[in-house]
Amino acid sequence: MPGGVAALATAVLDLVFPALCPVCETRLGAGRRDPLCGGCWDAIARIAPPYCDACGMPGPPCCARCAAEPRVWDYARSAARYEGPLREALHAFKFGARRALARPLGDLLVEQCAAALPQGVACVVPVPLAWERERERGFNQARLLAERVATRLGVPLRPRWVARVRTTQPQSDLSAEARWANVLGAFRASAAAAGRHVLVVDDVFTTGATLAACTRALRDAGAARIGVLTVARVV
Ligand SMILES: [Zn+2]
Ligand SMILES: [Zn+2]
Repeated sequence: MPGGVAALATAVLDLVFPALCPVCETRLGAGRRDPLCGGCWDAIARIAPPYCDACGMPGPPCCARCAAEPRVWDYARSAARYEGPLREALHAFKFGARRALARPLGDLLVEQCAAALPQGVACVVPVPLAWERERERGFNQARLLAERVATRLGVPLRPRWVARVRTTQPQSDLSAEARWANVLGAFRASAAAAGRHVLVVDDVFTTGATLAACTRALRDAGAARIGVLTVARVV
């Protein structure tokens, strides 16, 4: 459909069935980033400098955690704090199957983080979802986000470069310490990653355990540089 016709069709549909924001359930209106309304989009608590260069935590250039023990990845960035409308949007995306949210949430990641990314990113790799969870949900949220990020950055998506090699419990059911053991050695990366600068994408950075396990797999496969990008960061 040509752009003008598509825009007109959207406008007509909006009159008949007004599009409602999945977070606040109001009409989308001005500043909308479909399917998010302009109000929720603007209220996202974006993370701006200063932040920890190693893990993306708002605060000094090296946080206490990263000072105590270097991270396995080379750098990590998150677009915004995991709170308010972003937390609700991620919940609707994952558990309410609102797949269309991948677009504004992926855009948030790129718009907030792309300018500060090192040069030479070869590809984007989503964190693989546990097989049972993907079957239940029908999709992997990290993959949808990674697709959008790859498109916006103009680099290829490599969804098979990191795979799960054993089952794990949902991280959300576990304590912070138990999360590290749960995912230790749970991933394997493709030899194709050797010598590449890889960007790993996920929805939320909580303890960083899953991201660290994926990064370790990529390191073992010989990746040259590994960055981690998440839409949200638990602060
Ligand atoms: Zn809203
Ligand atoms: Zn840090």
